[in-house]
This record gives sequence, structure tokens and C-alpha cells, in this order.
Amino acid sequence: MSFRNVPKEVLVGSVVCGVVFVTGYLFGKKKSPRMSISKSHGSGKNNPLLQYVLNHSMREHPVLTKLRLRTMEEPANVMMVACEQAQFMANLAKLIKAKKALEIGVYTGYNTLNIALVLPEDGVLVACDISETYTNIGKPFWKEAGVDKKIDLRLQPALKTLDDLLSDGQADTFDFVFIDADKANYDNYFEKSLQLLRKGGVIAIDNVLWGGAVVNPPADDPDAVAIDKLNKKLHRDTRINLSMLTVGDGLTLAIKL
Ligand code: SAM
Ligand code: CA
Repeated sequence: MSFRNVPKEVLVGSVVCGVVFVTGYLFGKKKSPRMSISKSHGSGKNNPLLQYVLNHSMREHPVLTKLRLRTMEEPANVMMVACEQAQFMANLAKLIKAKKALEIGVYTGYNTLNIALVLPEDGVLVACDISETYTNIGKPFWKEAGVDKKIDLRLQPALKTLDDLLSDGQADTFDFVFIDADKANYDNYFEKSLQLLRKGGVIAIDNVLWGGAVVNPPADDPDAVAIDKLNKKLHRDTRINLSMLTVGDGLTLAIKL
């Protein structure tokens, strides 16, 4: 594709992202701002092939870049989704013409913004989190990007929000769901999300490799045990089509049949 066909804002984002990646790569003084590649793959700085992938595919919106850099100032920044994974999910949401989306686990709202940017003007993203502190970081960026009206932030335990949506008659209406909150509840999130999803809709589940711990989950790591249990269950689940991708810390895609 010629650069002439790429929207200006996307090009600016790519250049900013690229400069940031390359700066981190060359000088290696600061942790690379792209971050959160995964617990298993290491950063772009230590992984030239991943660095190549980032340099040759990222088209990050400039406000997403700003939010990513702001999030990097936070002590818990490892929770932010990897930017190449976020871009993949946005492309996927666009591909299925998603209009109604759900995010379980917002943190500073990098992926919330990422998905809201590809929803149509009358689209909605129900964003679930329990932390006002984290989500307040993202809010000004959602506004700056002009998508805040598409984001319906619900600050309460996500299970309660999912139950509210179900009792509100919204079963079978969501196009895209991203599950990325407390791992112990992943199975519950999956079951309720599947009810909320329309046929052909997609549930994306993050951290399904848990840094590799799922291969032999330690008994004292309840998150690894819970994720492995869900992975095994989904493999047998005839209600969905399934893919498990090694992007980031592992991303499962479940498509409702
Ligand atoms: N999806 C985010 C992103 O793209 O950057 C990262 C989410 S972070 C890994 C997990 C989030 O889940 C945290 O912000 C945390 O406050 C939230 N969380 C934890 N337990 C929760 C619960 N029971 N209900 C809703 N959110 C919860
Ligand atoms: Ca995650």
C-alpha cells in the first residue's frame, strides 16, 4: 500500500510509534514505551524480530500514542495491552463491522480508545472496571480523540454489569467482547459474554498463555490454574469456533456459532 492511501493521522501515529520504538532500541536506557509485549516474549529492544514487526506494521492513532506514553508513567503499566495486539483487535472489530462492544477490564483505557475509534458514530462500547483511579487516566484521551460519547463506563464489578446487561434484554446483541480483568472470573466472564454475543460475534480473551505458566500450572498460582482450565474447556466447546494466537501473552478468539 502506498503511503498516499494512508490517512494522515495514521501516518503521524506510525512515525511517533516508530521513533519511540527505535529510540528505545538504540539507546536502551528507558523501558521501551510500547511495553506489555508479554511476559514470555521480552521487549522489542531484546527481540529484533518483534521490533521489525512493530516498525513495519504499527499505525497507532496519535491519541493512542499519547495515552500509551502516559500509561507508561504508571507503576502498573505492565497491565496495558500490547499495541500490536490492540491494533489487531481493532482490525478484527472493523472486519466484523462491530457496532456494539464490551470490554471487561479497562485499566487506563488504551484498548477502550482503540476499539471506540473503529466503532461507527452510533456505536457503543460498554467498558467495565472497578477502578476510578485507573479509568480517570484514560478519560481525557477518549475525549481528545472525540470518542468519549461512544464509551459507556460502568464502575462496578464486571459480573454485575454483565448481569445488568442480560436483565436489560441485551442478550445476543454484542458484536465484540474483550475479556481482560481478574483471571479467577474468566470462565464466568466468558459464559455471560457468550450470552450477550450475537451469532458470528467474537470474544477475545487475553493472557491465555500467562507467561507460559499454563503449560504446567503451579498449584500456588490460581490464575494460571483458572486460565488453563478455561483453555481446556474452550477446546471442547461446541458453541464456538476457536483460535489461540501467540500474540502478546496469548489471545484466544472464540466465535459464536
Ligand atoms: N484491557 C486493559 C488494556 O487494554 O490496557 C487492561 C486491563 S488490566 C489487565 C485489568 C483491569 O481489570 C484493571 O484495571 C482492574 O481494575 C480491572 N478489574 C479487576 N477486577 C475487576 C472486576 N471484578 N470487575 C471489573 N474490573 C476489574
Ligand atoms: Ca491483559
